[in-house]
Amino acid sequence: MSFQNPVFIPGPTNMPEAVRQACYMPTIDHRSPTFGKILHPCLDGVRQVLKSESAHIFIFPSTGTGGWEVTLTNTLSKGDKVLVARNGMFSHRWIDMCQRHGLDVQIVETPWGDGIPADTYAAILKADTSHEIKAVLATHNETATGVKSDIAAVRAAMNAANHPALLFVDGVSSIASMDFRFDAWGVDVAVTGSQKGFMLPAGLAIVGFSDKAVAACEAADLPRTFFDIKDMQKGYDANAFPYTPPVGLMNGLKLALEMLLEEGIDNVVARHTRIATGVRLAVEAWGLELCATSPDVYSDTVSAIRTPEGFNATDIVTHAAEVYGVAFGVGLGEVAGKVFRIGHLGSLTDVMMLSGLATAEMCMVDLGLDIKLGSGVAAAQEFYRSNPAAAFKNAA
Ligand SMILES: *Cc1c(COP(=O)(O)O)cnc(C)c1O
Repeated sequence: MSFQNPVFIPGPTNMPEAVRQACYMPTIDHRSPTFGKILHPCLDGVRQVLKSESAHIFIFPSTGTGGWEVTLTNTLSKGDKVLVARNGMFSHRWIDMCQRHGLDVQIVETPWGDGIPADTYAAILKADTSHEIKAVLATHNETATGVKSDIAAVRAAMNAANHPALLFVDGVSSIASMDFRFDAWGVDVAVTGSQKGFMLPAGLAIVGFSDKAVAACEAADLPRTFFDIKDMQKGYDANAFPYTPPVGLMNGLKLALEMLLEEGIDNVVARHTRIATGVRLAVEAWGLELCATSPDVYSDTVSAIRTPEGFNATDIVTHAAEVYGVAFGVGLGEVAGKVFRIGHLGSLTDVMMLSGLATAEMCMVDLGLDIKLGSGVAAAQEFYRSNPAAAFKNAA
């Protein structure tokens, strides 16, 4: 008997049973038209999820972090300048990767809890009249702080300066869960992974390149072999990878994409907003605050919740795991011990979310925080019952 509870970490996310089954398949010839029947629907499906007509989609055996490396090494050369804001652990790690690749990184230090300051980007880009900045990096959803940034505003800042830099967006914890518009926002490379919005195990780096980003590959001299998009494209043209593809994961991705597209991406986004709103109402009822500093940056996939001064927020996560068998996320980096995180993305319903909120309440009360059992759950219930998830009524 398994007593597996849903997880409430911001990735890996809960897997629908059908997706799990799809990952578990017999061996096929991975250089055959049979593999092509898995590969090409994946590429087409990802393009649709990105809301793009023409993005070049590449799927590598890796994770989101590998997707960053695909992005940098295929488009940039040693010493190239990139502009990036540091407002959490994931943007921090991307910066670290840029530095280790010998890029010249102009960092905009930003308080953890704030979004990317597009106005600062605008001023820097305007002043860069010789166009030394080759790429602008943006973490769409800072998973460490539960903060989303306005990518359209970053693109507007680039356009206002008439700046030719490439726009790279880390959408690892937003794509397939939050509004994302590759074409409309003029994104040059979008990066994600399999284990968040796509509801799969970790193991795939999923990236979309614009024509301009693909063209940048010609002059880019950073070393790449495993992550070379041209080798990968040659593979795809022959229904293959340049090496052995993770066929089971790709088969799972094909089904996950079918499920997302059948629900409709706008409905998927609306579901995440509705579930997240319930979580935020619960946090308010608990008398706690989010790490995110204003409503316009609230993430619909993860909430980082500040606990009172002197209380170690990580205790909630440890206690939930030990006593209730439920996973929440710990605070990372600067906010370690100050926040705990509730992940609310992927395969999730209102009812599952209520169980997570109820568990968080039990933990906080067990640990002596001044919170009333049921207060947050009731706030979320009121919201969910007045905004019923119509999509679930007829769900099989
Ligand atoms: C999870 C995450 C990553 C890292 O992805 P991995 O798959 O763990 O390598 C990068 N950026 C963001 C915003 C993330 O949430």
